[in-house]
Parts: sequence; structure tokens; C-alpha cells
Amino acid sequence: MKPETIQEIKAELLRIKQETEEALKVFATKDSGNANDFTSTFPDYGEENDENAQEVGQYSTNIATENILEKTLRDVKSALKKIDQNTYGICKYCHKEIDEKRLLARPFSSSCVKCKSQLQKN
Ligand SMILES: [Zn+2]
Repeated sequence: MKPETIQEIKAELLRIKQETEEALKVFATKDSGNANDFTSTFPDYGEENDENAQEVGQYSTNIATENILEKTLRDVKSALKKIDQNTYGICKYCHKEIDEKRLLARPFSSSCVKCKSQLQKN
């Protein structure tokens, strides 16, 4: 992969990282002990019954969203680490190079299309 392409992907990863952190901060706070972990805050709409029910509903949505965003954040960080270690773009299963088009579309992919579809079949 060309160094320019890597730089382009790195910029995109940093953008996604910031975006994801911003999205998390809306409803979750960063754990002080672990920089990669966020905790959803319990929403407070009021003390009425329907408000309480809304809060619980929103809270479980928050937790689900939190998990997805945290996973993205972990994937993005590990991709950035791989760029630093010059191991970026290698499939974690078959250790072959991941198609550049795939990486440009989804820069935090850690497996090639072949391995990924194999996994989804199983
Ligand atoms: Zn593979």
C-alpha cells in the first residue's frame, strides 16, 4: 500500500475516532480508570410514571448504542496502532493483504472479504 494511501486512511480513522467519541459524550461519560470505556448516564426526564418508563427505555437504547460505538472506537484505535507498527491492512485470520478498496470504504476492517464472509457463513 502506498504511503499516501496510508496517510489518507489514518486521517479518516482519526476523524471517525473523534466523531465516535463525540457521539458517546452525548449520553455517556468516560470512565476515569479506563480511557476506552464509557458509561451511559441514566437520563432524567422527571418523576412521573411515564417519564420513568421513558428513562428506562432511553437508558437501554443508550447502552446498546454505547456498546456499538465502543466497539467502533476499539477497532479504530487498533487500526491506528497497526499503522504505527506497519502491520496495517493485513487480515488477522489469513495474514494476507486486505483489498485496498475495502480498507478505503471501511478503514478499520481487520479481516479480508474472504475470511469475513467465511465467518458469517458459520
Ligand atoms: Zn483473510
